[in-house]
Amino acid sequence: MAGLLAVAALAEAYDEVVLVERDPMRPDPAPRRGVPQGRHVHVLLSRGAKAIETLLPGILTELTADGGMTLDNLNQLHADIDGHVLCQADAPMDRAHLQTRPFLEAHVLARVRALPDVRILDDHDVVELRWEGTRVVGATVVPRAAPDEDVELDADLTVSALGRNGRVGAWLTDHGYEAPTEQELRIDLMYATRLMRLDATRVNGYRGVLVGAKPSRPTGISLLQQEDDAWIVTVEAFAGHHPATDPEGWLDEAVRLTPPQFRDALRSAEPVTDVSVHRFPANLWRRYDRLRDFPEGLLVTGDSICSFNPVYGQGMTVAALEAGLLRELVRSGTHDLAHRFFHQAAKPVRIAWEAAVGGDLSMPPDVVPGRRTVVVRAANAYLDRYLTAAEQDAVLALDFLDVTGLDKPARALVSPHALRAIARNSRNHDRESGPRRAA
Ligand SMILES: Cc1cc2nc3c(=O)[nH]c(=O)nc-3n(C[C@H](O)[C@H](O)[C@H](O)COP(=O)(O)OP(=O)(O)OC[C@H]3O[C@@H](n4cnc5c(N)ncnc54)[C@H](O)[C@@H]3O)c2cc1C
Repeated sequence: MAGLLAVAALAEAYDEVVLVERDPMRPDPAPRRGVPQGRHVHVLLSRGAKAIETLLPGILTELTADGGMTLDNLNQLHADIDGHVLCQADAPMDRAHLQTRPFLEAHVLARVRALPDVRILDDHDVVELRWEGTRVVGATVVPRAAPDEDVELDADLTVSALGRNGRVGAWLTDHGYEAPTEQELRIDLMYATRLMRLDATRVNGYRGVLVGAKPSRPTGISLLQQEDDAWIVTVEAFAGHHPATDPEGWLDEAVRLTPPQFRDALRSAEPVTDVSVHRFPANLWRRYDRLRDFPEGLLVTGDSICSFNPVYGQGMTVAALEAGLLRELVRSGTHDLAHRFFHQAAKPVRIAWEAAVGGDLSMPPDVVPGRRTVVVRAANAYLDRYLTAAEQDAVLALDFLDVTGLDKPARALVSPHALRAIARNSRNHDRESGPRRAA
């Protein structure tokens, strides 16, 4: 996704842009080997949707016209965050897009393929960067059908979007550069997902049910309506609590985690796919922004820079923001591009990182080991009070979704309205629980 969006970002500035991909890139939506996470829930947050629309105008209309779903109103979402069910008033919200990853990718691919002077070189492996001194001047690629034949590609700019496990760090060190330092928070998360045909009339107009993991139960579930009347149902769990993956055990667990009012719909749903499993070891941020020396002619983007606990749904949005940034930067020339890009991309990455890591550190230390700074502990304690107030208050619920959707800065959670609502809530709580005694 980061690669496709980078192509969309660069197409206006370069005479030709070549996308190299090891998988066959078929026009019809289908899971593919290079993106194993594609069988799992992939929400496009509202900020990411807007960023993709800026790069490829009209794409959001195409998605919904072809059957993609949206979340537009608080009353379509049952979101249980840390044991707090967000207010479900009738209130419009910034639109998040719900569809399978292959469906989204097929739409982005079709638009990218149609751009003038874009060439898709699929079924090809990138095996090396090409160098002229300290400058990257392209890549060596190998057709999958003819593994003994190297193809040399020349490029003024090479963008590495090879995902979390891409080899660009090794290519840099092989050429005498330092690899970026890594920040990591291990979570050992497991996803177990099944696409189900679920009778939408049994869920009362809801399009999404999210029950997040919480310290007393590090397991969560999401049920989200997708294209073609399908629902994607994912059970996600932290280390030591991984879900069953056999169909019966998985369904038992999914039903147990689902709020009672949606259980019948889930129990009677018809499976469309088998249970797919994905292990996600750690949040991982490679600090390209801190490197002093980086070759000219090369950039890195997407999960190769940072991959976040997927339950927060941020990865594609950050990739889209990086692509938007790339487009802006090349408009003013490529001088010092890598430094400018990594430096500015670190801003959205940091926002998403702090949200993901901060959330994960609210789990007990035996589930997510790591240092809980005073700031993280204070933020999580405040968030608990905020979410309590957001159970009744639509503005707070919307602001929470906007902040986690990367649409508003975190300071929206400490607005005067939020502080008043929290104070009012505490006073009511004190009144209900009687006078406090000093001991
Ligand atoms: C389980 C799970 C659920 C997720 N859910 C969400 C979600 O709800 N919302 C969201 O926004 N994000 C989600 N994400 C994150 C999202 O998948 C990524 O952030 C997003 O796809 C951007 O990643 P990328 O393009 O950098 O890498 P990828 O999507 O991993 O793509 C890398 C591409 O590079 C290709 N490739 C790799 N090596 C080579 C090579 N040597 N030569 C040629 N091609 C190569 C691969 O085939 C692949 O196509 C989820 C991730 C996981 C793991």
